[in-house]
Amino acid sequence: AKKAGRNTLRFFDPQMQETVIARALLERELSKALENDQFQLYYQIQMTDLNEPFGAEALIRWIHPERGLIPPNHFIPLAEEVGLILPIGLWVLDTACNQIKIWEKNASTRELVLAVNVSARSFFQDDFVTQIQTVLQRHAINPKRLKLEITESMMLNSIEQTIEKMNALKKLGVQFAMDDFGTGYSSLQYLKRLPLDQLKIDQSFVRDIATDSSDKAIVTTIVAMAHSLNLDVIAEGVETEQQRQLLIESGCSQYQGYLFGKPAPIRQFEESLKPGLRQ
Ligand code: C2E
Ligand code: CA
Ligand code: CA
Ligand code: CA
Repeated sequence: AKKAGRNTLRFFDPQMQETVIARALLERELSKALENDQFQLYYQIQMTDLNEPFGAEALIRWIHPERGLIPPNHFIPLAEEVGLILPIGLWVLDTACNQIKIWEKNASTRELVLAVNVSARSFFQDDFVTQIQTVLQRHAINPKRLKLEITESMMLNSIEQTIEKMNALKKLGVQFAMDDFGTGYSSLQYLKRLPLDQLKIDQSFVRDIATDSSDKAIVTTIVAMAHSLNLDVIAEGVETEQQRQLLIESGCSQYQGYLFGKPAPIRQFEESLKPGLRQ
């Protein structure tokens, strides 16, 4: 029933009505989740080919008092639709920068770069650059420790505006990653104009890399192109040693996925960083 668009809601359909009620309930609970302190950031490690951790991605979780852990796919789209993503996005940035500050004080975590997902709605707010500047100053962190993950789809309608905004943010010193690369429609013409630092190869290309020769070819091509544009390239969703081997063959030297660690709460994440516990 979820699949039906907003305009096709028919209230005489009892199942549909249930969905409408469930959605309204979720929205009301979501609107209180921030003040009730129900969000948590999980952290997933990012590794080099030398098995050195160099960064992490922050991934939000909603810890609901009755429903338990709710994954982002179950509430971020709704939050985007109703605008709650704006305060939620600010909370994510603030929490992430606070964590970066803590990491900067410790020799073993000082160099970690923390990547944060930015939704289109946040990015295209008039004062987004000021918001980033404010949060960087509030926590007094080195801006290059913060990496903003954007997607190809979010700049479909306004490439020029995207480039302008990215350049302004780049001046603050933050990094940029293009998330889910290969699933959208970005033209190479635009790609070379965006001030990016990293491409993230979407996990759909990694999943079947061992069995689908076109996926292997696509990955090899993306890696070569990224490197020729002077960009880092990281593969997402790396689950097996075989996938890692094939990625190495493709020239890819940064990885993120369950093979290295699932997204975890901060204590668990930091525990897994301790030398000797790492595989
Ligand atoms: P994403 O940015 O593409 O994040 C990667 C997703 O892949 C995460 O799902 C992660 O847990 C999952 N993943 C990581 N390694 C593996 C693996 O080896 N195998 C498989 N099958 N999956 C893996 P998650 O945490 O459920 O997040 C889903 C999406 O929700 C994210 O996709 C992102 O688009 C969005 N999201 C998460 N946190 C935030 C946030 O703070 N703000 C915004 N705006 N969106 C967020
Ligand atoms: Ca991401
Ligand atoms: Ca992704
Ligand atoms: Ca995604």
